[in-house]
Amino acid sequence: MSAFPGKAFSQNLKDSTSENEEISLIVNDAEHPCITEAEYEIIENECKKNIELLGLDKIVKSRSAVSLQWPLRAANGLNDYSFYNVSAYVDLNSATGATQDNNCGSNTYDGHRGTDISIWPYNFLKMDKDMVEVIAAAPGTIIAVHDGEFDKNCSGNSLTANYIMIQHQDGSSAMYWHMKKNSVTTKTVGQTVVAGEYLGVVGSSGSSSGPHLHFEVRTGTFDANTRVDPFSGSCNSTIASSWWANQKTYKETAITRISVNTTDAVFPPCPDTEIPNESNVFAVPFQGVGLAAGYAKFYIFIRDEISGLNAELKILNPNGTTFNSWTYNSTANNKIKVWGFSKLLPTTPGLYTFQAQYNGITTSTKFEITNNTQSYNVIENQYFKLYPNPSNGRITIEKTSNKYQRILIYNSMGALILEKNLLDYKTNIFINDSKGLYLFRITDGNQIISSGKFILE
Ligand SMILES: [Zn+2]
Repeated sequence: MSAFPGKAFSQNLKDSTSENEEISLIVNDAEHPCITEAEYEIIENECKKNIELLGLDKIVKSRSAVSLQWPLRAANGLNDYSFYNVSAYVDLNSATGATQDNNCGSNTYDGHRGTDISIWPYNFLKMDKDMVEVIAAAPGTIIAVHDGEFDKNCSGNSLTANYIMIQHQDGSSAMYWHMKKNSVTTKTVGQTVVAGEYLGVVGSSGSSSGPHLHFEVRTGTFDANTRVDPFSGSCNSTIASSWWANQKTYKETAITRISVNTTDAVFPPCPDTEIPNESNVFAVPFQGVGLAAGYAKFYIFIRDEISGLNAELKILNPNGTTFNSWTYNSTANNKIKVWGFSKLLPTTPGLYTFQAQYNGITTSTKFEITNNTQSYNVIENQYFKLYPNPSNGRITIEKTSNKYQRILIYNSMGALILEKNLLDYKTNIFINDSKGLYLFRITDGNQIISSGKFILE
């Protein structure tokens, strides 16, 4: 029986149209495991065969135990406070129908043999834009690698994933599963990787309910009985001490992203790409779709929410004084929580800050209020438009071609102060630097396609 009959299954978010949105995460579970038994058998046989071919079964194993780094990293200009959450640890209770994770909690599903790390929020958008990369947690030799499989699955299935398996110097191994189609490293079986090396992009290939990494480690390579949970915890007896160089806390409670939006963010059913509807420039008078005149949506994205904690939210004026403030009270424990508040925007032109404090962590984003009647000097050529010039701290770049573009900004001394991928049709960049002349270069990844100057005043 399916746990959610008829529903799109996903690490993705359910949609909501209410003014203040409460959205829950749907993840792989016992009825929809990340990897089927049949598939484990195929992979294990493949690894066994390759290990023998490579003679890796005969090498002298290093006596120092493997030390893992986090297998994901932000890429492509992603600068959120964080971009993932652990949606399921290893199930350490071998009894059918019973679960327990390393911390004696229930963040796992029956029979789960790895750690599921979901990317969040906007997981399909992040996947489309290659914003979260899978990297080698430890150095080693590739013993199995596969690419080319469909990568936008929404439920359990018997399809193969895009994956890589790496044997470490101490004889242990790691499996990286569910990667994006055509993103997997071009290295082949027998080649080595260093710690932190690019392996692929997080995707939803194989038996997956949404973009996430299934990361699994073993003391051996192909023997299913050597699987362990790398997180030390009072309910994990599979290891003597943590395999992580710096083990992350069981819950990483924080507001990981904050944004100002022109209207509701759109979280369509899996596998459609989310539409954030974020902006950091609002021309007054502003009218957002479905909102009262002059209002915008102010979003917070909470990871590992804890009941009883409060988020202190503020809109700060350009001079740092408070324009508006309010409190969000956490009333339940949630792996993730999205909340969008409708609030009146300031109307005086200037650079404002939306700031959130939660669990001792401050997250903020800047947005600008502009006057529609202002006229801007525009720097323009066949690739892009850049404005305003002079700028008061924000410049906007509109692309006029689909070419991959990256902007680099230098101060008058020639020092690089900022670089950013221009992923969208329109990108706003804020420069927190002194007034004066700035130089910019726009590249297509290989060569400079344009350069020029603008003034910050
Ligand atoms: Zn998994």
